[in-house]
Amino acid sequence: MVKYKQTSEVLKIMKNLEQVRNIGITAHVDHGKTTLSDSLLAMAGLLSEKIAGQALALDYLDIEQKRQMTVKAANVSLYHEYRGKPYVINLIDTPGHVDFQSKTIRALRVIDGAIVVVDAVEGVMTQTEMYLRVALEEMVRPVLFINKIDRLIKELKLSPTEIQQRLVQIIKDINSLIATYADKEFRTAWQLDPAKGQVVFGSARDRWGFSVPMAQQKGIKFSDVVDVYQRGKDALPELQKVAPLHEAILDMVVKYVPNPREAQAYRIRKIWHGDLNSEVAKTMLEADPNGPLVMLVNDVRVDPHAGLVATGRVYSGTVRAGEELWLVNARLKQRVLQVGLYMGPYRELADEISAGNIAAVLGLDKARSGETVCSLAVRDSMTPFERLRMITESVVTVA
Ligand code: GDP
Repeated sequence: MVKYKQTSEVLKIMKNLEQVRNIGITAHVDHGKTTLSDSLLAMAGLLSEKIAGQALALDYLDIEQKRQMTVKAANVSLYHEYRGKPYVINLIDTPGHVDFQSKTIRALRVIDGAIVVVDAVEGVMTQTEMYLRVALEEMVRPVLFINKIDRLIKELKLSPTEIQQRLVQIIKDINSLIATYADKEFRTAWQLDPAKGQVVFGSARDRWGFSVPMAQQKGIKFSDVVDVYQRGKDALPELQKVAPLHEAILDMVVKYVPNPREAQAYRIRKIWHGDLNSEVAKTMLEADPNGPLVMLVNDVRVDPHAGLVATGRVYSGTVRAGEELWLVNARLKQRVLQVGLYMGPYRELADEISAGNIAAVLGLDKARSGETVCSLAVRDSMTPFERLRMITESVVTVA
């Protein structure tokens, strides 16, 4: 059942950073990143009044098409309730190929947590390791989704005990990577403990999943899953109903991915190399909505109706329509024409978006991916997140 939320309600939630999470999904090719994004979008709340309004008029195919567009979007906001409290979860697209130079790292800088997807049959592979390493180096906290459990049952015909042994091995492999690559401060704290609900087991294609605490609470055992697959396709809805994948995944995200303020408190020193004793560093460390504006643009794309839309994370201050801002690398000022957020495939307008959140901004058409945008008040002293060399209007390289 897809829930629709009013933009105004979402904007209210976004002001309380304890109720915001910024995440990405990483996986070795074919392990199920796209299928997982797709099922989260299909099952969690799509935050759009426009979709809600049109849903009545559109037939299923049209809605399906819109959803497909959404899967490819740079940023999608999901709505999730955990223990009766509403949360906005921004899902940011992380590029499919590891590109250490710019794109992957840039995407990792705007998220605070990553869902690492691992195929239960293939286990931890080279790209799993590469992505996890870069994420950990950027201080992005991982949680784990072991996907394609159905293959262990149908293809490998493993018993419940053998299934558990294999899953334990995958968790061990991931934990040893965390112990190797995480910052000293987090090597132990970020170890994944399935008993705490830091790992979800399931099938993205068949849209079920559970963590250990969820299974205990609902009385689900691996032998029940084996039984469902032995009974065939018709038995699947039972499992989907008792263990909905989006609930398992998003509960884990809310519980274990730090909120933007908690994350900025330890990440700024890693992702930004300016003076940590400056006023602007202090407001970034606190994700202070009243500080000078600082935003890192991670994606720029053309909207056929509106022109160039720059999407990025606000680390300090608040971005508002009408305000003039400084583009640090381009060395010029531009006026913000509109501010919004992506909810589903649509941009929804907002008066302002504050620190810790992801904003879509119109009017900054000289901004390129990787640009640092700030208030005019701090333009002379602002150290950019990245130094982009602007060769011509359209060609940009990372120095
Ligand atoms: P990506 O490359 O990580 O984005 O992987 P995709 O999401 O495109 O999935 C790769 C293939 O695995 C597709 O053919 C999916 O249908 C399939 N797949 C995804 N999830 C599951 C699952 O839970 N079980 C099985 N058996 N196949 C799956």
